[in-house]
Amino acid sequence: MSRLYEAVLFDRDGTLIVDVPYNGDPALVEPMPGAREALDRLRAAGLRLGVVTNQSGLARGYFTAEQLAAVNARVEELLGPFDTWQMCPHDDAAGCRCRKPAPGMIEDAAAALGTSPQRCVVVGDIGRDIVAAGAAGATGIIVPTAVTLAPEVAAAPASAADLAGAVDLILGRQALVAPVGTRERAGTVLVVRSDSAGDMLITGPGIRAVAAGAERVVLLCGPRGRAAAELLPGVDEIIEARLPWIDPQPSPVDAAFVAELTAKLAATGAGEAVIFTSFHQSALPLALLLRAAGVGRITAISDDYPGSLLDVRHRVPVGVPEPERARSVAAAAGFALPATDDGGLRVEVGPVRAGDDYVVVHPGASVEARSCPPQTMRAIVAALAADGQEVLVTGGPDERELAAYVAGEAGRDAGLMSLRDLAGLLAGAAAVVVANTGPAHLAAAVGTPVVSLYAPTVPFGQWGPYRVPYVRLGDAAAPCRDTRATRCPAPGHPCLSTIAPADVLAALRLLGVRAQHPRTEEVAA
Ligand SMILES: [Zn+2]
Repeated sequence: MSRLYEAVLFDRDGTLIVDVPYNGDPALVEPMPGAREALDRLRAAGLRLGVVTNQSGLARGYFTAEQLAAVNARVEELLGPFDTWQMCPHDDAAGCRCRKPAPGMIEDAAAALGTSPQRCVVVGDIGRDIVAAGAAGATGIIVPTAVTLAPEVAAAPASAADLAGAVDLILGRQALVAPVGTRERAGTVLVVRSDSAGDMLITGPGIRAVAAGAERVVLLCGPRGRAAAELLPGVDEIIEARLPWIDPQPSPVDAAFVAELTAKLAATGAGEAVIFTSFHQSALPLALLLRAAGVGRITAISDDYPGSLLDVRHRVPVGVPEPERARSVAAAAGFALPATDDGGLRVEVGPVRAGDDYVVVHPGASVEARSCPPQTMRAIVAALAADGQEVLVTGGPDERELAAYVAGEAGRDAGLMSLRDLAGLLAGAAAVVVANTGPAHLAAAVGTPVVSLYAPTVPFGQWGPYRVPYVRLGDAAAPCRDTRATRCPAPGHPCLSTIAPADVLAALRLLGVRAQHPRTEEVAA
């Protein structure tokens, strides 16, 4: 069985021990409250532990390497052993790959532990720790102290009041994707996700879990998710239907509709169904039709009382990343990902454009409140071009004018393409600059780093780029936060319009995208 996480990496000062600036004295080491107990719970759960710590005091001459080693030895004496120690001895001027917010130490720690950053959690007390976690593709949890800034907490994908809370969160998420009971291999299972492309992609890990334990998987999707459904591994057959209790432009429901859909469900020959929904969607109307179609065992999330409509009624706490939420539904039905599956988003794409020498900018978004103003996107493209990047601008059928405008003279409109071709284009890119919309998840599914221009209307920890290196931009504390607004409620769209082209360039640097032009410094100045 695939475990959600394999290692937890901790910042040292202000996270594991009380921060004593540039401390070279072991006698001054004092653990944060509950640190030993929290770490021992992770050790008991079989997780490897590491430390990732900026120690620029070495470069600045505030303490010697021997003093640093003595302090670290005292930390282990008080808190128990760590499986890897990663330290950056440089200061900001060095421009090294290890000093947080750069992701180098997290990558090195994962390598030292024989895992990937995607299967690591990083726990830290300031924004730098969390940015480094994201840029490595790891899960970040901020545990604030008195010195942590409010915007740093707002921008973090997850937060906990103390180390015990962080451990509760980590172990709770692991438990959520662990299969309930042991079961026989299933025959044909109908899996359901009726939504857009992005929703389909983030359901992928849940569908793969079902596929790992079933002879055959039939996927019921809506028209808006069809193209994405066709890219998902583990799906043997796709059937399509608009579900009027989920579709944003619902068609009327009548007896003929009910009869037709019931017949379609019965024709799949499924003995079992697993219904995936996001939290404002109800699985119960479909469960009723599945009962009428004779499907034997039905699993779904339902906060509403399901009576006899569900065999497995599942519930999930808020804030869980959507791909893990999907896995948890599969787990409730007894399905788990195999050990060889790392739990990330996946698509099957054809030939990939060779490169890594271009950046994709996708200016559109399926929801207006989540899209960046076109003039901001156009300025970003111009700045990227001035940085020497080849910039390809993508957009859907409704976004042709937008793509042309945003590309301007500096970039190139990549033209209209299928989702499969877009996946291929993204797979060859060095990075993609995109809002919270389908192509962000597509990039994650092909492993391409994301500069996420994220409107905080829905929680980042739930909907942000999953298990892929990313940098989050935009004001995480803007007035639209957690409103679920589809149109921006704040004048001037402050969450995204405040993003400067220089922020995007800095984000690309953290993601390892280098300037392609010798005159970059002049241009930037
Ligand atoms: Zn360094």
